[in-house]
Amino acid sequence: MEKKTGKKIVGGIAIGKIRFFEKSRNQVSRRKEEDSEKEIARYEKAAKTAAGQLEELYEKALVEVGETNAELFHAHRMMLEDEDFRESVIHIISGQKVNAEYAVAAAGDRFAEMFENMEDEYFRARSADIRDITERLLSVLNGSENTVVLGEEPVILAAEDLAPSETVQMDKSRLLAFVTHYGSVNSHTAILARTMGIPALAGIEISRDWDGKLGIVDGEAGVFVVDPTVSVLEACFKKKAAEEEQKKLLQLLKGKEDVTLSGRKIRLYANIGNLQDLTAVLENDAAGIGLFRSEFLYLESSDYPTEEAQFQVYRRVLETMGGKKVIIRTLDIGADKQADYFGLEKEENPALGYRAIRICLTRTDVFKTQLRALFRASAYGNLAIMYPMVISAEEVHRIRKISWEVKRELEEEGIPVGPVEEGIMIETPAAAVMSDELAKLVDFFSIGTNDLIQYTLALDRQNEQLEEFYDPHHPAVLRLIEQVIRNGHDAGIWVGICGELGADTGLTEQFLNMGLDELSVAPGCILPVRKAIRETL
Ligand code: PEP
Ligand code: MG
Repeated sequence: MEKKTGKKIVGGIAIGKIRFFEKSRNQVSRRKEEDSEKEIARYEKAAKTAAGQLEELYEKALVEVGETNAELFHAHRMMLEDEDFRESVIHIISGQKVNAEYAVAAAGDRFAEMFENMEDEYFRARSADIRDITERLLSVLNGSENTVVLGEEPVILAAEDLAPSETVQMDKSRLLAFVTHYGSVNSHTAILARTMGIPALAGIEISRDWDGKLGIVDGEAGVFVVDPTVSVLEACFKKKAAEEEQKKLLQLLKGKEDVTLSGRKIRLYANIGNLQDLTAVLENDAAGIGLFRSEFLYLESSDYPTEEAQFQVYRRVLETMGGKKVIIRTLDIGADKQADYFGLEKEENPALGYRAIRICLTRTDVFKTQLRALFRASAYGNLAIMYPMVISAEEVHRIRKISWEVKRELEEEGIPVGPVEEGIMIETPAAAVMSDELAKLVDFFSIGTNDLIQYTLALDRQNEQLEEFYDPHHPAVLRLIEQVIRNGHDAGIWVGICGELGADTGLTEQFLNMGLDELSVAPGCILPVRKAIRETL
């Protein structure tokens, strides 16, 4: 038996025969070709054929993985038909008097490298798309095919790497899981795997010797086993059966309302950290996004993300959610979330330190850039903004003054701004205690239980040594939550929970009895929480 650990791309267990997939990379040689016109015509014809193939793939993906994911193939087509790329190929053909294959490969390398060197992780991941398009063009020029042919029997596919187009072309009914050496969690291949609901692992060193052997993928645990012993196999069958049973029951809740037995409707939203999480949001049928931790944009970047880069991301989230509520939290950096370029000093008590709104209110340049991006994006969907770590009414006045200035600036520039609810997170005891006053200044409250617990109980949420004292059900915490909900309602605003406690189904009934209006949980927790809501009186 061989056991390997890797990176979880998609959870779930798969047991079956391993099929080793070797990509036949197109071999490209440089040939002198004096007749540039002929080579350019060959290239143009290949580009047309490739565009046709991408259109077919779009149609196939539309049926199998939905419009949002299928859009990838339209994006590929746009890249393929990009004028700069085309000119670059033609320039190489006529400038160097070379064959079309060489020109396509050289231009593809140049463009892929350009993306690889971009700071934004999302754009960096696009270099894989460029390489995919280049391979497609080369396959057409060479008259070869690069599709994954699966046998009759469903298999676990083991490959060094998989391109999105290869992934979507696979027959899902013959695919149990896939395991790759390369592949980032941000890649479209990973997104497609998530959408398809196929267990997937990356970061596993693949061996061709595994071909035909029995394998087990435990996506959740990030474990891959080749040639399992009988007892391991038996344990995995049991784990898989339990998982399937659970899943089957939960799937029945898709499309069902988040409503209690007595008919009260609850808003059940999802928490996300980046664009890639949207797939799971849609897959798990969330009614909106209750917390987009925008700081991940800053953490993934090696410098302050620009207004434009942020705008593009926020706009995409809003458009993907198609009119459903999207609550984006402004930058919550500091404490455990550090980005070097902020130049934050080392602190004795970082959780009590210079973080979140405290940074925004003193680094107003950074804050204003984010707010401009957010308000610009508001024209593309149903946006709400919330501010983290607030402790006083004075802070809320300062925040609202800045946000008002930003909105006015945009209006003066003639940039449309949609109606935006502005709320605060209640995650400090000070905010909870003052929630009667704060409620008059904002449109909603979202209770951040992760921090509210740590500050109420004076227990560092990062410190493993304190686990035995960490009691999320502590009456002090529950009383504060109840008080916040009551104060919010008295002032006529809605109140939600976006901390981890919101997914604790042992508390759902209690929260709903307190009058809670909204719950925002990790996408994978949507269906279990929906079940708990629907079982509450
Ligand atoms: C919280 O504190 O509950 C919360 C949602 O914010 P974070 O976990 O990002 O601090
Ligand atoms: Mg918090």
